[in-house]
Amino acid sequence: MKILLAGGAGYIGSHTAVALLEAGHQVVVLDNYDNSSPEAIHRVEELTGKKVSLYEGDATDHKRVLDLMQREQPDCVIHFAGLKAVGESIEQPLRYYRNNIDTTLTLLESMAETGCKKIVFSSSATVYGAENAAPCHELMPKGSCTNPYGWTKSMMEQILQDAAVADKDLSVVLLRYFNPIGAHESGRIGENPRGIPNNLMPYVTQVAVGKREKLTVFGGDYDTPDGTCLRDYIHVMDLAEGHVKAVEFGANHTGVDIINLGTGQPYSVLDIVHTFQEVNGIKVNYEIGPRRSGDLPVVYADASKAQKVLGWQAKRTLADMCRDSWNWQKNNPDGYE
Ligand code: NAD
Ligand code: UDP
Repeated sequence: MKILLAGGAGYIGSHTAVALLEAGHQVVVLDNYDNSSPEAIHRVEELTGKKVSLYEGDATDHKRVLDLMQREQPDCVIHFAGLKAVGESIEQPLRYYRNNIDTTLTLLESMAETGCKKIVFSSSATVYGAENAAPCHELMPKGSCTNPYGWTKSMMEQILQDAAVADKDLSVVLLRYFNPIGAHESGRIGENPRGIPNNLMPYVTQVAVGKREKLTVFGGDYDTPDGTCLRDYIHVMDLAEGHVKAVEFGANHTGVDIINLGTGQPYSVLDIVHTFQEVNGIKVNYEIGPRRSGDLPVVYADASKAQKVLGWQAKRTLADMCRDSWNWQKNNPDGYE
């Protein structure tokens, strides 16, 4: 199949491009490099020995997307394109709503105009909200989000579901990611955050490499075994392989399926720090600080639907995630620059 990856030069998109190419699919990437670099795709080509059709452009630019779709005629779109920094979304809500929702509408409209009927969407565990106790199951009603980023995901899910009601030939796979970390085992591609990282693992690796002085663990007084929050960390290559399965599932599917991509195994913030130190033989300075507003104590997936419907299950361990994150960071201390 030929797959258009909107936002495909980013962290998850670039790893998914590798997995798709290795599975024998063709890959087209559209990205405006708002949070990425074309170098990621050059390295995808180098790793796989295969070509990617790479387009610089904005997924909110209807003419650009339509021209591309008419020329490439993809069988399926994977929609990664979006802004994802939670704190920034609180400061700049309109920018987040504009970009994230507009990319979704523009992609859906261009698909309708060119007869493309398959879309896989990057959603998030954040849509379960505080109302649902872990493990999060796809049949749970969505909850209330604590920030505009989360609301964009919730709204985009709704838009995609409504589009599938109106067009019975449309296939929508809503993938709810838990916490992707790690990097391709080669250390050639990985997560490349701009500025101060918001997420735990890039912060840990930047402390380890000496770019930041110490990690602040947000809260040590939660009602969890070691007092720090529990999350479902998933290796980005497992996540990438989940997308290959989702695209192949979508090929013979219509309607909407919501599927969690997680491991089902929760780990604490201190589990991450300790495993990272042990696996890599490197110290990570940290201190326990105050809680971060909006953080839920425990979030992890019920991962059984992905196994049943996609025949997919995460294979890589927390040690693999910590080793590969460090391998990427130490070989690329300044990311793709
Ligand atoms: P990323 O920022 O690395 O990738 C997103 C890509 O989209 C970037 O390359 C960016 O330049 C591009 N982009 C943004 N707006 C665009 C636009 N208007 N037109 C074209 N390209 C645009 O983020 P990621 O971690 O790879 O995440 C991919 C998707 O998965 C995002 O939608 C994100 O919200 C979602 N997600 C990520 C996580 C996570 O922890 N990384 C968790 C849940 C969901
Ligand atoms: N966290 C932390 N210090 C940091 C960043 C994150 O203690 O500098 C914690 C955060 O409180 C959460 C976990 O690490 O419990 C994962 O946070 P992240 O932002 O990576 O993902 P989230 O699950 O919040 O989307």
